[in-house]
Amino acid sequence: MATGKINVSVENIFPLIKKFLYSDHEIFLRELISNATDATLKLKHLTTIGEAKVEYGNPLIEVKIDKEGKKIHIIDQGVGMTEEEVQKYINEIAFSGAEEFLDKYKDSAKDSGIIGHFGLGFYSAFMVAAKVEIITKSYKDEPAAHWTCDGSPNFTLKKAKKTTRGTEIILHIAEDSTEFLEEGKIGTLLRKYNKFMPIPIKFGTTTE
Ligand code: ADP
Ligand code: MG
Repeated sequence: MATGKINVSVENIFPLIKKFLYSDHEIFLRELISNATDATLKLKHLTTIGEAKVEYGNPLIEVKIDKEGKKIHIIDQGVGMTEEEVQKYINEIAFSGAEEFLDKYKDSAKDSGIIGHFGLGFYSAFMVAAKVEIITKSYKDEPAAHWTCDGSPNFTLKKAKKTTRGTEIILHIAEDSTEFLEEGKIGTLLRKYNKFMPIPIKFGTTTE
């Protein structure tokens, strides 16, 4: 197991971002669905060109609300990530995008829609979550990885038991964002995005 500190100069960057983008909290879902879609389409491409020797099948993106546990799960069957890739794409790249954003906008922008231009992407999960987990298994023959971050720059990254290919993002919804645990709210947002999405989305409530 590895623990580490994400390389950001602002000690607690997340609450700041949250404050700046207050009106745009709901975009976390669009960002995470779009990552799940990208991951699935990447796998499709890799199987087509013979690079990934796995069955592509009919992959879905699943969104589950766990009301009691105050969690939202977003599960895909895409390319997944190795531990090394989580380190690179999440700790190094996704987080540096957020730092850049803060640098540019700490004094000004409260414009809505601004986030899209910065690829804040995955990071936007922290607009609604107090803690985020990624459990992911690459299409490559490597062990699954489990990343956890509680909104400070500290993360943990360790091996996981997941055996099925793809990525599960678990959002531990923050006290001030519990509206996103409502089926109606998530359903409405998904319908809004679903129209443009090439991979089907399955949505349900669970009580695990
Ligand atoms: P972007 O999507 O613009 O590249 P993000 O911050 O949304 O930026 O995501 C950063 C990177 O993390 C992605 O490029 C991808 O490599 C990886 N990633 C994020 N979500 C997933 C996922 N569900 N499956 C596989 N890789 C992912
Ligand atoms: Mg993205």
